[in-house]
Amino acid sequence: SHMPISTRSFKDYLFKPELLRAVMNCGFEHPSEVQQKLIPQAILGTDILYEAKSGMGKTSAFVLATLQQLKPIDGQISIIVICHTRELTFSIGREYERFCRYMPSVKVSTFFGGVPITNHEDVLKNNCPHIVLGTPGRILALIKKEVFSLCYIKHFIIDSCDYLLESFDIRQDVQEIFKMTPYEKQVLMCSTKLSKEMRTICKKFMHDPLEIYMDDEIKLTNHDLRQYYIKLHENEKTQKLINLLDKLEFTQLIIFVKSVSRCIDLCKLLIEQNFPAIEIHSRMTQEERLARYKQFNEFQTRILITTDLFGHDIINIERVNIILHYDMPEDIETYLHRITRTGHFGRKCLVLTFVTDENDTAILNKLQSRFEVQITEMMNELDITTH
Ligand code: ADP
Repeated sequence: SHMPISTRSFKDYLFKPELLRAVMNCGFEHPSEVQQKLIPQAILGTDILYEAKSGMGKTSAFVLATLQQLKPIDGQISIIVICHTRELTFSIGREYERFCRYMPSVKVSTFFGGVPITNHEDVLKNNCPHIVLGTPGRILALIKKEVFSLCYIKHFIIDSCDYLLESFDIRQDVQEIFKMTPYEKQVLMCSTKLSKEMRTICKKFMHDPLEIYMDDEIKLTNHDLRQYYIKLHENEKTQKLINLLDKLEFTQLIIFVKSVSRCIDLCKLLIEQNFPAIEIHSRMTQEERLARYKQFNEFQTRILITTDLFGHDIINIERVNIILHYDMPEDIETYLHRITRTGHFGRKCLVLTFVTDENDTAILNKLQSRFEVQITEMMNELDITTH
């Protein structure tokens, strides 16, 4: 059995300098709990099956562990990540790119449907990557065209493995890809939820894996997260928001609303008032959403108004220091999801929630008891600093 080692700073992991530099540059200082458990073992090449809630650092964990071990050889694909959706493929690809910023020779490619397959064939023939991410369908299609060689794979990763191994059809595709990789390799798999049955299926792909299942209880009692509510009438929300925007200091801010129409209206209103706002909602195409995230991530705009976040949508959250629930989330899980996706890991963040009626109050109370956290009323915004 494995004895998990744990450390508290990324500096303790003895990463190669070019990786540590990127980690520091991305604003990572302290590994999350799952990263503490995983990274020290994973960099030794151990197979690992792990489960943790969304936003807990699962993706970054395998990205860092595999980059640390990567010895790039031209013409050889060493790392393959099988992803469940195009969106995830794209955002995990971005995560790899972020962390190999100081490894100029390392090439990352993402392969998924919707892009002409000839583009991908060209990449594989003329500019063979060291790291490949893709959806099973497209990867298999490329393998069948004999442009994709799996014989140098050293790390095989399945992200959201429950989705990828659940349905028989997709599982067969994954198995077919897996069988073409060398016997000697590291296998890492992760998911937000792994049933007993699923754990058994996953372990069939692995040798003596370390298993990490994070405690279901997530603590919102993080001292870097300051949470307040503001009691007001529905028709006072807009004016209050504008006051807050005028008075609070923020680098970037995310506003969550409950409907698409509200998202559009509020964004229009803020822009009319000369606030640098952008909206993202569920009725936009994926391409449009990604383009807008890119704008926000590149700091072209400071206020993001959104209905909710989807999977890995938010990529760069380093600059977000205020989250406002303009509308109370429908349930406590949504509140948690919004926060873990945006303010986390020792970054200071202010979380404000507008509370209008009994229904909102009930959710607020539920949040406090379920997560053992005290959310106090914000009386005067001047009492609050964002530092
Ligand atoms: P998961 O895969 O569990 O949903 P991610 O790895 O995508 O979580 O992490 C969520 C967000 O937090 C990402 O934007 C990621 O870059 C960031 N992140 C992950 N680990 C850390 C860390 N230790 N310190 C700071 N930010 C982190």
